[in-house]
Amino acid sequence: MAYSRSKSRVAHQPGPGRDQAGTERMNIMQLPLLDLKAQYDSIRQEVEEALLRVCASQRFILGPEVAELEREIAACTETRFAIGVSSGTDALLVSLMALDIGPGDEVITTAYSFFATAGVIARLGARPVFVDIEPDTFNMDPVAVAARMTPRTRAIMPVHLFGRCMELDSILELAREAGAAVVEDAAQSFGAADGRGRAAGSIGAVGCFSFYPSKNLGAFGDGGMVVTDDEELAGRIRMLRTHGEAPKYHHRLVGGNFRLDSLQAAVLRVKLRHVAEWTQARRGAAQRYRELLAEAASAEHLVLPADCPGHVYNQFVIRSPERDRLRAYLGDRGVATEVYYPSPLHLQECFGSLSYREGDFPQAEAAAVCSLALPIYPELTLPQQQYVCGQIHGFGGS
Ligand SMILES: *Cc1c(COP(=O)(O)O)cnc(C)c1O
Repeated sequence: MAYSRSKSRVAHQPGPGRDQAGTERMNIMQLPLLDLKAQYDSIRQEVEEALLRVCASQRFILGPEVAELEREIAACTETRFAIGVSSGTDALLVSLMALDIGPGDEVITTAYSFFATAGVIARLGARPVFVDIEPDTFNMDPVAVAARMTPRTRAIMPVHLFGRCMELDSILELAREAGAAVVEDAAQSFGAADGRGRAAGSIGAVGCFSFYPSKNLGAFGDGGMVVTDDEELAGRIRMLRTHGEAPKYHHRLVGGNFRLDSLQAAVLRVKLRHVAEWTQARRGAAQRYRELLAEAASAEHLVLPADCPGHVYNQFVIRSPERDRLRAYLGDRGVATEVYYPSPLHLQECFGSLSYREGDFPQAEAAAVCSLALPIYPELTLPQQQYVCGQIHGFGGS
């Protein structure tokens, strides 16, 4: 159990439910939300060899490592083209740029996601049009999307949140009828699949991945990837990635520097060989949480995330009516948790001019108040999970 030291320490005052006098001794286990050191320990030699190979080549920008990674990711997502980019945010941005989205256009997306999803729309001068989520999946409500379609809708951006791939059929149909593009934000869902086994990212016109270190396939820094079957779009994205140039020093489009580093690609190629096995371990950990928490769930009104076969559990997010108290309680007992996300996108200060109000998207707002991510990663052990769940049970009795 790398990283999780057990240590004894004198507990805080017993909670109101426990009326023993004085203090009690408690075994505190330190549990991070994500243990990247444990993962690194398991692949250290392979990664170091790959990094040294790049150092020896002294080719740092794009190059053969990136080209190989692109081939491998296209193969495992069953898409024709994959284009390595500088981050998940840039994957989304360059996809919208390639679709020529700008002022006067509307892009429909979820009110409950990481900021980048909406940020890229606004950066291009287009209008983010938010919709509420489905409470049981945290993903955008397809029925709500239909009601927001207008003649200005140029794209729909579903997010496969927390590792759960959304069922996109009805959204694909809406987009087709309107001549809009579906851009999948699959940043948290590398390796996930929908009910028909289609890879997250491969279902819409374009799919975007992030290799931010905490994602299921994480680099040693920033990185991202765009996948698509559309050859013309792939060509535009490739061009936009290097300032829109084709050929060199002749600029057909105004692009940017959205390139992926060779060092990152080399690390990612090593990790890609392990990611299926890590996904299975994440799914196993999620199943163990479900078993260990079944009782607490009913006693304490916790809602556990609904499973589906293609879920890759980038996060294991429960809901609790006493989220903030539970979080503090767990934190005092060494269990790191996180709130994704404390404020929905429509209520962010920077979108004030869009004139959304509290109450517009009740499900997203409720999730912001109730959701709590528990530690989950492939190396998480049964004793660690028993400890987390034991503390959650203890919270109920406090
Ligand atoms: C991480 C993430 C992004 C952005 O990816 P970066 O690589 O951090 O730029 C976008 N959308 C979602 C849903 C994410 O989780």
